[in-house]
Amino acid sequence: MNDMATISRVQPEYSAAAKAFLARKPQLFINNEWVDSSHGATIDVEDPSTGKIIGKVVDASDRDVDRAVMAARAAFDDGRWSGLPPMARERIMIRLADLIEANADELAELEAIDNGKPKTMAGAVDVPGAASHIRFMAGWASKVNGEVIQPYTMPEGAVFGYTRKEPVGVCAQIVPWNFPLLMACLKIAPALAAGCTTVLKPAEQTSLTALRLADLIAEAGFPAGVVNVITGNGHTAGDRMVKHPEVDKVAFTGSTEIGKLINRNATESLKRVTLELGGKSPVVVMPDVDVAATAPGVAGAIFFNSGQVCVAGSRLYAHKSVFDQVLEGMAETAPFWAPRPSLDPEAHMGPLVSKEQHDRVMGYIEAGKRDGASVVMGGDSPEGYYVNPTILADVNPQMSVVREEIFGPVVVAQRFDDLDEVAKEANNTCYGLGAGVWTKDVSTLHKLAGKIKAGTVWGNCHAMIDTALPFGGYKESGLGREQGRQGVEAYMETKTVIVQL
Ligand code: ADP
Repeated sequence: MNDMATISRVQPEYSAAAKAFLARKPQLFINNEWVDSSHGATIDVEDPSTGKIIGKVVDASDRDVDRAVMAARAAFDDGRWSGLPPMARERIMIRLADLIEANADELAELEAIDNGKPKTMAGAVDVPGAASHIRFMAGWASKVNGEVIQPYTMPEGAVFGYTRKEPVGVCAQIVPWNFPLLMACLKIAPALAAGCTTVLKPAEQTSLTALRLADLIAEAGFPAGVVNVITGNGHTAGDRMVKHPEVDKVAFTGSTEIGKLINRNATESLKRVTLELGGKSPVVVMPDVDVAATAPGVAGAIFFNSGQVCVAGSRLYAHKSVFDQVLEGMAETAPFWAPRPSLDPEAHMGPLVSKEQHDRVMGYIEAGKRDGASVVMGGDSPEGYYVNPTILADVNPQMSVVREEIFGPVVVAQRFDDLDEVAKEANNTCYGLGAGVWTKDVSTLHKLAGKIKAGTVWGNCHAMIDTALPFGGYKESGLGREQGRQGVEAYMETKTVIVQL
């Protein structure tokens, strides 16, 4: 077993391509061109593996936001994108997916440097995921149609009624820092397939891959103004995007708190809104499982991406007959998850994204201890923004560590006795994004899948996401669905045409 105390946390040197990218002048991508901001404000880019400032990006002004929105508006209104044959839209989107794959190594490295996630994980999950969202959605450009409908109250042949699917218009798409490139592509892909134009804003902590994506968007051959990428702070640039009168739809992934604020702000002009928000996802382990196979899966459910995952399996409910063995099995995975610098090829978990996030997570761990929780594993920060994988037991539903989203590598473990009790506990939350059920009993699995109020229920796996399957939240975890047919339909209006013959 590795001794976690002796792990070297020296970040390997960046590649020449990454260094060249970081040396670029901070600019915005509007109308397929790199343009200067109207003012000089910038945001520091930090490598969370070292805490060092490694570059700067623009902190977009109100004028910058307006310029990007008007570019998207013009590109929408003259039909230069929505008016193309669906085959042409599909082809350009597929070219973008090809370019993402051709530049996969550089994108994975930039993501690792910016977010702190291991480059190996970014290369295995984020970058291929980004490409698959675009590939899948590209096909919908030609496949979402209206229908001819026979009216109910009128005689056959008297009236011709049909529906048309039309793009919603200009979209403001705001994404978080945990899967920057993946979330950016998840957002733009359905909008583009539907024929919309967009202004995309990455999170202020992690803007690099969205900016690199902008290069590829220009290279892929999208008409100018169809995708605009602006960097900036949420309460300024993001807020301006949400309130902008020329924006027709807002799509946001991030915290529930900001999601509620955005929903309120978008309501003024009744913009269409899709929200993908926080979670406190339960993981239920039934007594019949093979513990040796289940424990590493349950550990991965929380420690992947340092627990900075909206569907992280952060509340573990293990049946009392296997509780101790499951925790022992999870504790055995600690060396695998020991946090390392993001470019270390042995890393499976990196630091947290920022000092703010590190302090937040450590604050929760301290609160848990104060409230009487016992630390089964981890509970400490070895250095910098790194937090060791942590299991807390002896918790109760009143504790903040059980109720609130921590967004770090911290799981709270509880015992249960019977199915109804655990279903009730699993639903004892304001969230409803994901849930995991581990059992060999098919009947139990489907019963629990029906009882748990969550947008996605996983059986014997966790956080498995596929672009063809709808994703979204119940309760305070969100509004609407992304991915699949529902994902593209969320970027369309239905128009009814009634003609008297
Ligand atoms: P976290 O709390 O995980 O950092 P947030 O929900 O604050 O996540 O941020 C997610 C995204 O929302 C980021 O791109 C951020 O800039 C943006 N954002 C934050 N506040 C606002 C706001 N008031 N209006 C619009 N966007 C915002």
